[in-house]
Formats: sequence, C-alpha cells, structure tokens
Amino acid sequence: MNDTFTHKGMRKKLVNTLQRKGITDEEVLKAINAIPRHWFMDSGFVDHAYVDKAFPIAADQTISQPYTVARQTELLELKKGDKVLEIGTGSGYQCAVLVEMGMQVYTIERQNELFKKTNRFLPKIGYRPKKMIFGDGYKGLPEFAPFDGIIVTAGAPYVPKELLSQLKVGGRLVIPVGENVQIMTVFKRKSETEFEKKEYGEYRFVPLLEDKN
Ligand code: SAH
Repeated sequence: MNDTFTHKGMRKKLVNTLQRKGITDEEVLKAINAIPRHWFMDSGFVDHAYVDKAFPIAADQTISQPYTVARQTELLELKKGDKVLEIGTGSGYQCAVLVEMGMQVYTIERQNELFKKTNRFLPKIGYRPKKMIFGDGYKGLPEFAPFDGIIVTAGAPYVPKELLSQLKVGGRLVIPVGENVQIMTVFKRKSETEFEKKEYGEYRFVPLLEDKN
C-alpha cells in the first residue's frame, strides 16, 4: 500500500477544509493528516478518500465523513493515554484516529464480515487497538469498564443505559441519537448519578442495530 506525495497533498487540503468547517483540536487534525484514509477504502475509490464525504464500505456500511470523525473525536475531550470505547468499528478509520492520538482503544463491531476484515487490516498497517471485539455495542464492554470516553459511530434510536454506566466520573459519551436524523449528543458524567447533556447539531448515520450478525 502506497502513500504518495499526491495523497499527502490531498490530505493536507482535507485538513484545511476541516479547519474551515470549525475543527480546532490540533491533535485531531494531526491524526487526520497522518493517516492514509485511502487505505481504508477499496482501491478503486482512492479518488474519494480525501473529499469530506462518507463512503460505502463492505456489508452495506459506511466510513464516516472526515468532518464527523473529527467532530466526534474533538467532543470526547480526551488526553493522551485515555481509555476509549468505540461502538461500530466499521472500516477501522475512526479507531486509527484514536490510536494515532495515543489512546487505548477498545472497539466493537456487530457485523462479522467487517469485524474479520478490519481485525486483520488494522494491525497490518500498524494501528493496534487494545481490543477488537465482535459483539453488540448496546451492551458496551463491562469487563473493561470504566472508560474515559465512549464514542458511538452509528445512529442510536435511544441512549443505552449500559454505556452511561460504563463511563468514569469526568468521562464523556458522544452519541448520535435519533431514528432518521440524529442529534449529536454528549453526556458528561459529573458524579455516580449525575450526567450533563449537551447537543451539537444534526447528522445522518447508519443505524445502531441490536445483536450481532
Ligand atoms: N467508525 C466506523 C464507522 C462505521 S459505520 C469507521 O470509521 O469506519 C457504523 C458501524 O457500526 C457499522 O460497521 C455497523 O455494522 C456498526 N454497528 C451497528 N450497530 C452496532 C452495534 N449494536 N454494535 C456494534 N457495532 C454496530
């Protein structure tokens, strides 16, 4: 797999676009600048890798739009070394962004075909999450909780209680909530029992589905 000057140049432009759209977190921008997004797409689609758009991957799923990846990551407000749970591994791109930023990443995917593909692919290109799990993200990952951050990369019809309960005090859950259109929602855990909720505009994700497949 190659990463040419042309790819790097296109990536730099993408980073500029994200800055123009309001992304300010330097660590996020650095990670996006560093990761060859075209490696996460089937080779015929390299030309689409550096436009700010979502794109189809295997099993009827999508690699999220770069702006969405950047925004969700920024909203997690992580610091290096934090423990993060991602629901919806998909292509592995969001996971790679978190690994590149120095996080300990746990990621869950419910589609077996995608899980197997990404499980082989990520280590091959040098991005190693702590754990990649084939399972149902609605349940979170109680055996590895609590987490500094939890990011859901599919549209959730409701907020799973399990995910809130697996946050550290001070940690954040970033989750798009809704059926057809989702509102990007952040829950910050203030104490064992209190959460602060904030909303950040509309997005469209593939649905968070129950059970694995
Ligand atoms: N983060 C991904 C985005 C993938 S799209 C990326 O960077 O490419 C959302 C993913 O969530 C899909 O792969 C879908 O199969 C997965 N998904 C949907 N419901 C899920 C669930 N309950 N648990 C785990 N993964 C789920």
